[in-house]
Amino acid sequence: MEKIKNIRKIELSVKLLIISIVLLFSVFAATSYINIKYRKSSISTQTSQKINKKSETIIKNINGAYNVSGTIIVNKKYGLDENYTYKNNQKLFNEATKAFNNMKKDAEKDGMSLNIISRYRSYDVQNWIYEKYKQQYSNIDTFSAKPGYSEHQTGLAFDLSEKPKTSVRDAFEFTEEYKWLRKNAYKYGFILRYPKGKSNITGYKFEPWHYRYVGENISYSLKDGDITLEEYLNIY
Ligand SMILES: [Zn+2]
Repeated sequence: MEKIKNIRKIELSVKLLIISIVLLFSVFAATSYINIKYRKSSISTQTSQKINKKSETIIKNINGAYNVSGTIIVNKKYGLDENYTYKNNQKLFNEATKAFNNMKKDAEKDGMSLNIISRYRSYDVQNWIYEKYKQQYSNIDTFSAKPGYSEHQTGLAFDLSEKPKTSVRDAFEFTEEYKWLRKNAYKYGFILRYPKGKSNITGYKFEPWHYRYVGENISYSLKDGDITLEEYLNIY
């Protein structure tokens, strides 16, 4: 009797052991499956991100500006250091000056008058402007940059008008100068930075007056459409 009892006990223990092993194995298998699945999905996310942003590595250089494939980029996402000035890229600044002067001269030959209303603005000046507008407008971020996030801090952005000593205005769109710029600015390395219908990409409403010097490589690539710099560099 005692012997049978013992055998039953052993049988029970063996059964329990087998059940435990099966259970343990199931848990292990399930975890591995989940891991593999998770890893697969994270790999595919990485790949698709790579495809979306096939371009380019965005690097913040020692001067305190973000660069994509050698082009300085400043927008709502990529800002400049507080102490960044046009002098941090003096060579490019000079190149832009020369390009603008050439453009202005050629425009004059066609009877156009191109005047710079605003070009370089320091961090402090932008800060002053932003604070001033903030008190007057609730939609300030659609047309004015926070300090450190204005392209004007690079000195590569030009606000233009057909008249000297005036302020920028929407009606510039209807001037002969605007039409001329749309047809010719690319030849000098300039692009219309905030085109119509692209505010979801650029973060700014249409600014017919705001031109950016990007160099002829990029300006020629963008001449045929209203493609923004963000789209071209694939960073939106
Ligand atoms: Zn501007």
